[in-house]
Amino acid sequence: MSRDDTPYKTYLAEDELPCAWYNMRADMAQKPAPLLNPATLEPVTAEELERVFCTELVKQELDDTTPYVPIPDEVMRFYRMFRPSPLVRAYFLEKALGTPARIYYKFEGNNTSGSHKLNSAVAQAYYAKKQGLKGVTTETGAGQWGTALSMACAFFGLDCQVYMVKCSYEQKPFRREVMRTYGARVTPSPSMLTEAGRRINAEHPGTTGSLGCAISEAVEAAVSQEGYRYVLGSVLAQVLLHQSIIGLEAKAAFDKIGDSPDVVIGCAGGGSNLGGLIAPFMGEKLRGECDRRFVAVEPASCPSFTRGRYAYDFCDTAKVCPLQKMYTLGSGFMPSANHAGGLRYHGMSATLSELYSQKAMEAVAVEQTSVFEAARMFARTEGILPAPESSHAIRATIDEALRCKSEGREECILFGLTGTGYFDMTAYQKFNDGEMSDTVPTDAELEANFAQLPKV
Ligand SMILES: *Cc1c(COP(=O)(O)O)cnc(C)c1O
Repeated sequence: MSRDDTPYKTYLAEDELPCAWYNMRADMAQKPAPLLNPATLEPVTAEELERVFCTELVKQELDDTTPYVPIPDEVMRFYRMFRPSPLVRAYFLEKALGTPARIYYKFEGNNTSGSHKLNSAVAQAYYAKKQGLKGVTTETGAGQWGTALSMACAFFGLDCQVYMVKCSYEQKPFRREVMRTYGARVTPSPSMLTEAGRRINAEHPGTTGSLGCAISEAVEAAVSQEGYRYVLGSVLAQVLLHQSIIGLEAKAAFDKIGDSPDVVIGCAGGGSNLGGLIAPFMGEKLRGECDRRFVAVEPASCPSFTRGRYAYDFCDTAKVCPLQKMYTLGSGFMPSANHAGGLRYHGMSATLSELYSQKAMEAVAVEQTSVFEAARMFARTEGILPAPESSHAIRATIDEALRCKSEGREECILFGLTGTGYFDMTAYQKFNDGEMSDTVPTDAELEANFAQLPKV
């Protein structure tokens, strides 16, 4: 079937719940650059990737031409426990801002993991189980991905080993306990269980870890145990594919109510919620059917899009993962310790990076104090206590709505409310006590990391 005679509506199971994911890359004239083998600098082969990742997920990762991928029945059954997620009109926020803009949010926090990450976790666990694997390994930073994956693994009966960035492991004991309740083994990273962890501990005594470092440990743990593969909760094209369910549902709901967003806004860590939310809307833009704006919102303390380089870089600290062409701050970049708001990854999805470089998308960087001000306003008007990550999108949405007010424009704004913030109360406490500060890396700091980019 060509994509012209298969509009996404064909794939709606019931209400807004789609029964196929949408692969945005199929509609990109200029595709994202291929992943490279870190040793040979040649494009990675499926065979090489299959040593680390599940076979079906490798297929999805390398497929940039198939527009729709059917969602397996078992995954659909799991989705039905918490999907479709609500698309909500933020009337009270609109009123508080006095804006003529119509503001909608797609709320992904209505499941125990508290974020959109469960959408991909359940798909990845399903494919691992179907392949007959014993278990999977992964890293988690703030803890949402590890929580989502441990839920998915419990459901499908898989072992789940999570390397959790040490500072979060210590700051968020309750996240850890949720994962353990679902049966996951949680190890603070860097650990002494892996070669990579031992090396990082020796080179940086007392380090509290980073995502790049935890990735290295999780990959090593997967390849050194029989029947295990590594899974990743963001950045990869396969994750954006699974997250397209967010945008597909939102699009179906908009069609039903007869509205359509002029601007789509999402926070960007590795780019998976944003890539999923914008997918069908960006598809329309790429096919020339409709034009609209897309805005990625990132922390000023970890500004991959707005101040990064578009270059091949390592995805992890130990440089064992494939090289990806993306907007990056360098794989050695670590956001300042006072940064509390998540979205700490040094790189970005290759798909979104290519779209950004083509100027099909915009990006803004926001400082964390203003992010928490937006979070507070949202909590007080709309009732939901937002995750700090999600609050980046709220900040940008409020700014767009205020622009609409000053320009007298009745635009329709859609933003992704990716999750709830119950495990982030230490950050809220800092903010409430007036002790939160903003740290922005200097040009010199960024240059030092750019100098370490691999020469490709
Ligand atoms: C992980 C996470 C993000 C950022 O990840 P992306 O891959 O960029 O979407 C945003 N919000 C929440 C609540 C998260 O858990």
